[in-house]
Amino acid sequence: MNPELAIGIDIGGTKVAGGVVDVDGKVIQRARRDTPHRSKNPSVVEGTIVEVVAELMQYAGPETVVAVGIGAAGFVAADRATVVFAPHLSWRHEPLQAALQKRVAVPIFVDNDANAAVWAEWKFGAAQGQTHVMMITLGTGIGGGILINGQVQRGRFGIAGEFGHMQVVPGGHRCECGNRGCWEQYASGNALVREAHSLFSANSPIASDLLDSVEGVVDNLTGPLITQAARDGDPTARELLAEIGNWLGVGIANLAAAFDPGLFVIGGGVSAAGELLLSSARETFKRQLAGRGYRPEAGIVAAQLGNEAGLIGAADLARFSAQEQAD
Ligand SMILES: [Zn+2]
Repeated sequence: MNPELAIGIDIGGTKVAGGVVDVDGKVIQRARRDTPHRSKNPSVVEGTIVEVVAELMQYAGPETVVAVGIGAAGFVAADRATVVFAPHLSWRHEPLQAALQKRVAVPIFVDNDANAAVWAEWKFGAAQGQTHVMMITLGTGIGGGILINGQVQRGRFGIAGEFGHMQVVPGGHRCECGNRGCWEQYASGNALVREAHSLFSANSPIASDLLDSVEGVVDNLTGPLITQAARDGDPTARELLAEIGNWLGVGIANLAAAFDPGLFVIGGGVSAAGELLLSSARETFKRQLAGRGYRPEAGIVAAQLGNEAGLIGAADLARFSAQEQAD
């Protein structure tokens, strides 16, 4: 029996994924439920989380689990209990921790999913041994996490690391946040698909192979399909990914100017493109870095823990926080 297990829960827009995580960051059991998309009723998602936790507790043996960590794609207040705003979950100032704690016997901590991911990559993945790390998760949007000297930097109000909403193009594409020209409108999975669609609507012959791959149904083209086409050598798909990588490099150069980290870890679904994305990001980064040639340059590497980083990090951070509270 291992008495140091923790449960991590990753809440996305349409699913609740959970896992039992041991002290080495290994996921030893998984559970998953779909949730109604953009459910108007927060208690539906809460009920689903409690179900997943109960199932995993049952497996692990309730007495072995020391904490539960929740990673949510949204703004989580500094108290690590309240989800202030979650664009994909219709949670507004939702006291998630209090609602769940009534129904679960071990301590619960709520965190932003990218904060959880940067912790996981630092403890168990690509950023082991680093002191100043920035995580950038490229999914439908862009998430961010900052870790300095072994501590996740959450900011005064808990909302630090929302890099996706830095403006990179004045008057540019409209963003869900209400502003224009946000970084995530140029360097995310959504941006990749939008650019492919605009090639199609321009009737560009260079997109014909890509269009054939979805049998002419434009709406069926997804980020993962574009990545696969690029891997298979499709030049247009490669160009699209290089363009996303270029915008990634622009934002990273801005972040380096502000924070001067030693390493940028790139995670999230789009990072599955690997070097097809990262090599152009590095090139642009080197070209745009302030003081280039006269300063050390941060590394830019792919995440190692894949799409389980949020779950693993949420669990391990919760275990760490529960121990801190107990001491
Ligand atoms: Zn925005």
